[in-house]
Amino acid sequence: MKTVLIGVGQAGGKLATALAEFDSRMGFGAVRGALAVNSAKADLQPLPLDTVLVGQDKVNGHGVGGDNELGAEVMQSDAREVMGELDGRITAEAEAIFVVAGLGGGTGSGGMPVLVKELKRVYDVPVYGLAVLPGRDEGSMYQVNAGRSLKTVAREADSVLLVDNDAWRSSGESMEEGFDAINQAIAQRVGLLLASGEATEGVGESVVDSSEIINTLRSGGVAALGYASSEASADAEDNINTIMSTVRRSLLTGTSLPEATEADSALVVVAGEAQTISRKGVERARKWVEEETGSLQVRGGDFPLESGRLAALILLGGVERSDRLQQFMERAKQAQKESEEEKPDPVDMWSNDEIDSLL
Ligand code: GDP
Repeated sequence: MKTVLIGVGQAGGKLATALAEFDSRMGFGAVRGALAVNSAKADLQPLPLDTVLVGQDKVNGHGVGGDNELGAEVMQSDAREVMGELDGRITAEAEAIFVVAGLGGGTGSGGMPVLVKELKRVYDVPVYGLAVLPGRDEGSMYQVNAGRSLKTVAREADSVLLVDNDAWRSSGESMEEGFDAINQAIAQRVGLLLASGEATEGVGESVVDSSEIINTLRSGGVAALGYASSEASADAEDNINTIMSTVRRSLLTGTSLPEATEADSALVVVAGEAQTISRKGVERARKWVEEETGSLQVRGGDFPLESGRLAALILLGGVERSDRLQQFMERAKQAQKESEEEKPDPVDMWSNDEIDSLL
């Protein structure tokens, strides 16, 4: 899927960079442009991307200090400049736009929903969010920021692919090392998904197409991505069980939003050497995902690439019912309550009044 990336805030800029670098290192050509936007000059300087500094008149390049209302405000007042920078980068070949940000901070959290809304007004291609949920041990302010931002961006974007910072973290690392490792994992996994729609080698009927990614995300709301990989045998027949077990791990223990197994739709992509991918294995795994997710809209396909391993990517659309997400929204709501007066009863997750929408 030919994609243009816009990283907003520090996490957004670093992630957009990691994704663009992965795509270029692998020679995939799915990332057709990347831009970083921030209100903090120091966070833009180390990035090898084209950048736009917003909110100079209000915060003078120093960032918004975790205030996502101010983040939304500076993005709104400089929206024209950002949209101007994007002119010419989002060409007719682009099939999707991804706005990338961490939801817990200020600039990305506040700026992402505003920018998504602006982009939706101008462009016909789907506008997705790639959003990072703060880990459980991040403080209340991060949870409140993320709750408000997610509620708003889930409404504005065509879909929000959510990555929980606790999901793909390895233990025993410092915060900074942890982020670098998580960013590499996100870049590899999301990068493979985008590239899967771009396969040119060994193209057959069973190869994934960009439209299948777009259709899987069509239900809107929140999406998640699962990933697992295994050693492959040279013979496809020997890989039927490997494909099944890898797809199982990808869904049950490898998703970007833990416990996101109920879904409206799914896309199962098996990546590896074309001759090692068993059609029977992919079909069996696709059926299993249908049963497990309770969705009748489960697509399946191959992504031929040079590798001694087989990888299973599962894109899940419409995962709002995930326990982790419900718990997160509950926690964001409690944290917001603690910092202000009582508000009326909730109705449902996206329409309740206890988490203020940013827009
Ligand atoms: P902003 O610059 O104001 O948008 O804020 P940041 O991007 O620095 O932080 C927002 C949130 O993103 C934090 O709550 C963290 O959960 C997360 N975060 C910050 N840096 C990284 C990073 O490099 N990788 C990942 N995965 N998450 C990050």
